[in-house]
Amino acid sequence: MTSEWKPRSFAKQVIAYYHEKGRKDLPWHNTKDPYRIWLSEIMLQQTQVKTVIPYYQKFLKAFPNVLDLANAELDEVLHLWSGLGYYSRARNLHKAAQMVRDEHQGEFPQSQAELESLPGVGRSTAGAIAAFAFDKPAAILDGNVKRVLARCFAIEGWYGQTKVLNKLWDLSEKLTSKNETAAFNQAMMDLGAVVCKRNKPLCSECPLAQKCQALQQDRIAELPHRKPKKARPSKSVYWLIYLDKGQILLQKRPPSGIWGGLWSLPEIEIEAKVQKQYSSERQLDAILHKFSHYDLHIYPLLMQKKPNISIMEPSSQQWYSLAEPLSVGLPTPVSNLLEQLKQNLD
Ligand code: SF4
Repeated sequence: MTSEWKPRSFAKQVIAYYHEKGRKDLPWHNTKDPYRIWLSEIMLQQTQVKTVIPYYQKFLKAFPNVLDLANAELDEVLHLWSGLGYYSRARNLHKAAQMVRDEHQGEFPQSQAELESLPGVGRSTAGAIAAFAFDKPAAILDGNVKRVLARCFAIEGWYGQTKVLNKLWDLSEKLTSKNETAAFNQAMMDLGAVVCKRNKPLCSECPLAQKCQALQQDRIAELPHRKPKKARPSKSVYWLIYLDKGQILLQKRPPSGIWGGLWSLPEIEIEAKVQKQYSSERQLDAILHKFSHYDLHIYPLLMQKKPNISIMEPSSQQWYSLAEPLSVGLPTPVSNLLEQLKQNLD
């Protein structure tokens, strides 16, 4: 496939695009600070630029450098991350900062292999940090770059499959400029985000249009191939609302899994037996929360009984004042529900 494009001429087109039209003024541009670059790369995984900007600024204000982040409480980190989703990123961010502090004397490592050993840093993120912060000739392959390459070279198959992913990595390694790697990588990210969009790509503005296989073969809507469809799973739970003098009982979720380490309402998975047990409690409006891989149907119940305080563990349960909220990480549907309860009490 690469016979269509000589790597050098591909890189030349991409770099020319960067100099002419590439994005150069986002808050994490114009810096070589690996901490800032790493933070932005982690936040940008699965999240759009406009959503990331305020979180990135808030984080830098609270933790101006990697040591501030490493020394912070995880609860504080999760609190600042609340609403950004994919919370394992925040937990890994905290762990990785501690690893930089404890195993690398507070300095980010520069090699691809050492960067990849940090929690939450995969091959593409390590490549981005190595290229942007340390001017290394490292390739990247984030979601945007995958789409550009899959279309430009008409790569068959879904890139969740190892052989397809390996093919894309081979292409990225071959095509990446060894001299102007940072400009090349930035331009590829920009092309995917701004020009070669998932829907309605702007091919007339694309520097790769002349030899793009998807465009030539009229297969843009088909490429890249989507994940084969399976029935979407779902789960139903009760959230138990214990309200006492303007305070709500919150429970800390287990450290891993969905919303790991965040504070939520006590949760019970709904089964026939459980339904009977809670049938007399007042149910508030149901909430549908869509995760990337399943739907969660939440049925909040206003509990009449008091919780069994004797079994409360202070490290995993606490009373949360609606009038004076604590700085703890809350999943978005929990903070929305607490806000709704507060308004009803006012
Ligand atoms: S020509 Fe169109 S489909 Fe091909 S890479 Fe450019 S924007 Fe994407």
